[in-house]
Amino acid sequence: MGKLKFKLASSVILSLSIIISCANMNANAFEKNSPVAPESAIQKLIEGNNRYVLDKSENPRQNSARRSETAESQHPFAIIVTCSDSRVPPEILFDQGIGDLFIIRTAGNVIDSAAVGSIEYAAEHLGVQLIVVLGHERCGAVSAAVKGGEAPGHISNLVKYIEPAVEKAKHMKTGGLIDNAINENVSITVEKIAESEPILKELREKGKLKVTGAFYDLDSGAVQFFKDKTENTEKVEKKDDAVHGKH
Ligand SMILES: [Zn+2]
Repeated sequence: MGKLKFKLASSVILSLSIIISCANMNANAFEKNSPVAPESAIQKLIEGNNRYVLDKSENPRQNSARRSETAESQHPFAIIVTCSDSRVPPEILFDQGIGDLFIIRTAGNVIDSAAVGSIEYAAEHLGVQLIVVLGHERCGAVSAAVKGGEAPGHISNLVKYIEPAVEKAKHMKTGGLIDNAINENVSITVEKIAESEPILKELREKGKLKVTGAFYDLDSGAVQFFKDKTENTEKVEKKDDAVHGKH
């Protein structure tokens, strides 16, 4: 009888173990297959930025527990493409923590093929559904492009990426030249990402990716999201068509 009880108890424990293992597997699978929707991701960024602006940052998920939780895998909820400027640190100004944001930074938030590859990895492999291109006030890289002239070393390569935005800004009738160039530079980067083939454009068309622009105010700390990304994209497309039509 003793042996039978032991066998029964063992099989119950084994069954429970299997159930618990399956539950864990399902939970992991659910987590991996449940990316944060773009609207929810933007909301999280807005709420975090509001806390930062009001000096009420919670500095969430920046402890050893979070480090352990994310040590084996990452599930960021947003991709941020922004400037390398030391005054624009995304985790701080959006009040986020370890594993929350997948970040690409270059001076002037321009993107080359390595940057696009990084974005593709996060969107395709990690399943991130929101990309924010974040420009900022008094951007030195954009100011250098506005100033013109020959930039030294590899900086000239960087400035070339921003020149089309400066040219567009020069024809705008309202607003300051540098601010307009900063916003136009964001819009152009948004457009490049949105139309990037084969991965990003396809994800966007399937409704699995949203690309939006935003502007960071160095004085107030506030991030202003562009109102309608789609509208911006259409605007650029129409302009491009017009340019192509001239050739
Ligand atoms: Zn900058």
